[in-house]
Amino acid sequence: MAGARSFHPPVRTLMGPGPSDVHPRVLAAMARPTIGHLDPAFVGMMDDLKGLLQGAFKTDNALTMPVSGPGTAGMEACFVNLVEPGDTVIVCRNGVFGERMRQNVVRCGGTAVVVDDAWGQPVDPQKVEDALKAHPEAKVLAFVHAETSTGARSDAKTLAALARRHDCLTIVDTVTSLGGIELLVDAWGLDAVYSGSQKCLSCTPGLAPLTFSDRAVARVKARTTPVQSWFLDTTLVMGYWGSAAKRSYHHTAPINALYALHESLVLLHEEGLEAAWARHARQHAALRAGLEALGLRYVVEAEWRLPQLNAVYVPEGVDDAAARRQLLDDFNLEIGGGLGDLAGKAWRIGLMGYAARPQNVLTCVAAVGAALNHQGIAADVDAAQAAVFAAYAGAKN
Ligand SMILES: *Cc1c(COP(=O)(O)O)cnc(C)c1O
Repeated sequence: MAGARSFHPPVRTLMGPGPSDVHPRVLAAMARPTIGHLDPAFVGMMDDLKGLLQGAFKTDNALTMPVSGPGTAGMEACFVNLVEPGDTVIVCRNGVFGERMRQNVVRCGGTAVVVDDAWGQPVDPQKVEDALKAHPEAKVLAFVHAETSTGARSDAKTLAALARRHDCLTIVDTVTSLGGIELLVDAWGLDAVYSGSQKCLSCTPGLAPLTFSDRAVARVKARTTPVQSWFLDTTLVMGYWGSAAKRSYHHTAPINALYALHESLVLLHEEGLEAAWARHARQHAALRAGLEALGLRYVVEAEWRLPQLNAVYVPEGVDDAAARRQLLDDFNLEIGGGLGDLAGKAWRIGLMGYAARPQNVLTCVAAVGAALNHQGIAADVDAAQAAVFAAYAGAKN
């Protein structure tokens, strides 16, 4: 039978919007022996994993765990637990993921009040405040901290403070921010926060770190209708992820995937969270110097740019798909194309987690320069590499 042989993927450099390069220690952790999901040794690892996740989220929330599913499952877990039929939810939409949040509200039987901002812009707190005033019945404010579809950061601290003033809980998408930029769940007063394993944590895809504040937990407990998803109902799943003394079967945990997440969080802990944020900023500065020297322009204004997701316009006259194909074929380099409003118009270059390191920055600048030259654009690759080195020299890499 065709295809009935082992699969050996090519070795790529992953600088798209996720998954990012996975650290070799994370891949090695995945290959360790599978044990039972109620084995005392495994239960001990789960407790360590919870503590490490609390550290990464900067929270003391007792309900902190990885959902067994991708970031999308983390998003869904927040909405199904916190939105009851008839609830009004204010949803901020400045890219792909805000729109998905709106669809989640509708599927939960809620009413979505959408606050729109242009793609590439941060969420405008003034518009959010106006919506909160116009809808005193709103129970939740939902927004994306780091919009991976555009590369824009929104001011989560300010938005959460507004929500609090208007007695709303917050649902916050931190899939791309966790481990890459400052994120302070407790200090900012965020309520239901989800993330993903394969962006700045540089783990394999398929797990969604999640944390709920006590206010969010109280809201779930006060529901008058059951959570419509059995699998994602936090009151049930905490029977497994809650207190170690009385863990009971809910679903079979993805054992080896959890080894991988644990290892990625150990790596983050060894480096230090603040040091990881600083590394993303430093690698971004070097990449930006190189890309701008090639003549590329950023989609997002400097103040709101995500270091871990560099969205740049595809220059006039360049065939987007052919250029990205050449990067893959000639240099084993994956970068992302544009989504939605930016489809065909922008490249999304990720610098997430283990991918945020000098060899990737240099490879990317040289390879993108070569692809531009191949299409007749006079980009100066030597000057771009010199700009990268100058940025490192200035930043004391
Ligand atoms: C990647 C991403 C998601 C979805 O995560 P999956 O693991 O692909 O399900 C959600 N929100 C944001 C901001 C993302 O970047």
